[in-house]
Amino acid sequence: MSAPLRFAMVGGGAGSQIGDSHRIAARMDGLFTLVAGAFDIDPERSRAFGRSLGLAPERAFGTWQEMLEGERDRDDRPDLVVVATPNASHFEIAHAFLDAGFDVLCEKPLATRLADAVELARTARRRGCALFVMYGYSGFPLVRQMRAMIRAGTLGRIRVIQTEFAHGHHVRAVERESPAAAWRYDPAVVGPSAVLADAGTHALQIARFTTGLAIEAVSAHFASCVPGRALEDNAQLALRFSEGAVGALWTSAVAVGQAHGLRIRIFGEDGGLAWEQERPNRLLWTPTGEPTRILERGQPGLAPEALAACRVSMGHSEGYFEAFANIWRDIAARLRARRTGTPVPEEPPVPDALDGVLGVAEVEAAVASAAAGGAWTAVRVPALD
Ligand code: NAD
Repeated sequence: MSAPLRFAMVGGGAGSQIGDSHRIAARMDGLFTLVAGAFDIDPERSRAFGRSLGLAPERAFGTWQEMLEGERDRDDRPDLVVVATPNASHFEIAHAFLDAGFDVLCEKPLATRLADAVELARTARRRGCALFVMYGYSGFPLVRQMRAMIRAGTLGRIRVIQTEFAHGHHVRAVERESPAAAWRYDPAVVGPSAVLADAGTHALQIARFTTGLAIEAVSAHFASCVPGRALEDNAQLALRFSEGAVGALWTSAVAVGQAHGLRIRIFGEDGGLAWEQERPNRLLWTPTGEPTRILERGQPGLAPEALAACRVSMGHSEGYFEAFANIWRDIAARLRARRTGTPVPEEPPVPDALDGVLGVAEVEAAVASAAAGGAWTAVRVPALD
């Protein structure tokens, strides 16, 4: 087995929501080692946290600028830099590392403005770097099963795609009580959208990933249910997909009683599929005119790409970290293929710069639509090269 790839992190400090998810997923297959980081907005905390993770003291940096300077000329520089800071800083940080020739895995949303997302994609191309975007739910085995079934034509022509990512974590003004929540409704940090750019974008990415269809236009209605919020905490989107399919997204942070609330239902001429992230190990499949079947994760007869994404035997719980790790494993395969000049695996696709750009373009179209009273608004994506 070849030596593990090296990765570094910006953001993801102690107590952050997503930092540990990356660190746990990255080491699950022994394919990556953390070698450097600037983890925290506070330089002293950042250095201390890096050392607590076992980094060499000279690679536990106070700021990402110090990390860029300290790492760029090393022979053993990182193979991948993860950007896991709050949204508005993604552009500047990812741009600086791409420009210095680093491959980057950026958290979603890729940027807070479409123009910036496009610029990141173009910079990656210009510098010959890989740019991945962490839409982690496409790592779930049964999400990959949905994609495989739809690609095989099992559902026939897709007619309706119904998606949800509606949770209840911000039913009250948590942003006034907790510093960790404060940035999530601050337009200076998240841009023009809160819950759609934070949660709903995942559901839209799964819709694209599973069906292969593009979201061509949106009609959006935003609401700020909690008084004082500058941005939406509930959004309803009608969706027009390519090939004539239609659909909807409900995304919310005020759905009391919903824990996480990510689900998708896909209806085609020849059958329907239904999957919920809180019950990730079963997929409901109803062939048209026949009873519903339950497909269990790990079951013989699933698509090879779904089985390849299963890590523990059928019946044992498997979930979020493993799905994240599947994305990390796919990234490792792509990084190794690029370094050895071997063909880059095509399936399953890893969420990349295009996914990141599409995610921001969909948010921007929805923001414009909501401001125009729900007018149908095209999702436009400029050329990325
Ligand atoms: P958080 O507020 O919990 O943590 C952010 C971390 O970044 C903190 O440790 C903070 O000190 C650090 N930080 C901030 N600015 C920094 C800077 N300039 N340099 C270095 N470190 C800095 O936020 P979070 O919930 O972990 O979210 C971070 C990003 O991850 C966001 O873009 C969010 O949208 C995304 N996210 C993605 C998923 C997913 O499923 N893919 C889930 C949660 C969050």
